[in-house]
Amino acid sequence: MTDRRFESLTQSAHSRVYNFSPGPAVLPLEVLQQAQEDMLSLPGIGISVLEISHRSPAFDRILAETLQELRGLVGIGDDHEVVLLQGGASLQFSMVPMNLLRGATGAADSIVTGTWGATGLKEARREGSVHIAWDGAATAYDRIPAAEELSFSKNAAYVHMTSNETIQGVQWKHDPEVGAVPLVCDCSSDFLSRPIDISKYGLLYACAQKNAGIAGVTAVIIRKDLLQRSRDDLPTMLDYRTHVKNDSRSNTPPVFAVYMLGLVCRWVRERMGGLASIQRHNSAKAQLLYDVLDGSEGFFTGHAQHSCRSDMNVTFRLPNESLDTAFVTAAADRGLIDLKGHRSVGGVRASIYNAMPVEGVEALRDCMLDFRKNHGVS
Ligand SMILES: *Cc1c(COP(=O)(O)O)cnc(C)c1O
Repeated sequence: MTDRRFESLTQSAHSRVYNFSPGPAVLPLEVLQQAQEDMLSLPGIGISVLEISHRSPAFDRILAETLQELRGLVGIGDDHEVVLLQGGASLQFSMVPMNLLRGATGAADSIVTGTWGATGLKEARREGSVHIAWDGAATAYDRIPAAEELSFSKNAAYVHMTSNETIQGVQWKHDPEVGAVPLVCDCSSDFLSRPIDISKYGLLYACAQKNAGIAGVTAVIIRKDLLQRSRDDLPTMLDYRTHVKNDSRSNTPPVFAVYMLGLVCRWVRERMGGLASIQRHNSAKAQLLYDVLDGSEGFFTGHAQHSCRSDMNVTFRLPNESLDTAFVTAAADRGLIDLKGHRSVGGVRASIYNAMPVEGVEALRDCMLDFRKNHGVS
């Protein structure tokens, strides 16, 4: 029995392909193996992690450990609360303006660097007035603005930005200067992939299914003083204060997704050496692919301008659409899956989050080099 189980365990680990999906995305094998163990019976509890009550001591411990791991890893101090919510990053597109913009005198300033920023902006407009501080649509969102291009409004309620645009593959390399106005950041697709100076932000939110775990939980980090802006006429579950007051347990939380977030945080700390270390690792992985683009004499064209290239989502196209498709198919034949670019951008997108091993990126690099050779250019 034990032997058979061991056999099937290694077999399923060996049959894994390299998953370049933008999210839900690749998870660390060690995290999956730990989850597999706890799937039948949590040590000392005797039931599955999927079966425990969210009011049980077992979940008390999982939640406390997850929050402690997250705070320690990211460096979240006493000025900020952390809540774990449902509804994805998309619900934050509404919750942020509901809580921070309703009743404010100024507008919400929005820096729009890609599809996600534009989507959030549409929702914010349903809540109040929005001022566009910069919008990169004119060049198909291929870059991040320079400081002098940003035009902020007077008395802005907050400034909203997206640290990494998952679809276009552009990423901020420094925090924008916004003075005393609270900076709000959708960091869904680069959360836990690099250090963040939390003190610069009023609010950050990230869904877990890119770098931080599985779908179903979204981390919101909010500076305590901003909680005073929420008004009493908000629906209870859409009021940040509800979740702070009830320690993210005002109703049944996504128990398993919280547990997975905790495991991923621990993996980043213990196995990858923390955020500064994983950032070096991530940049080196991305550089392997950007070097291929730069050395390909126009065979592969990157979407993002050089200074704003994302370490998380590498976007590029081939000389024509049929070659894009042929490349995605050739890669899949080698066990490199989910490389098709988002339909709004086309081409190819390689999402190489924290858990993508360097071997996967090397295999993709080799596939790109071979494909170029096989298609008439050497
Ligand atoms: C994936 C993603 C979202 C949407 O997240 P959901 O959890 O599906 O709502 C929003 N913003 C960014 C930057 C993302 O990468």
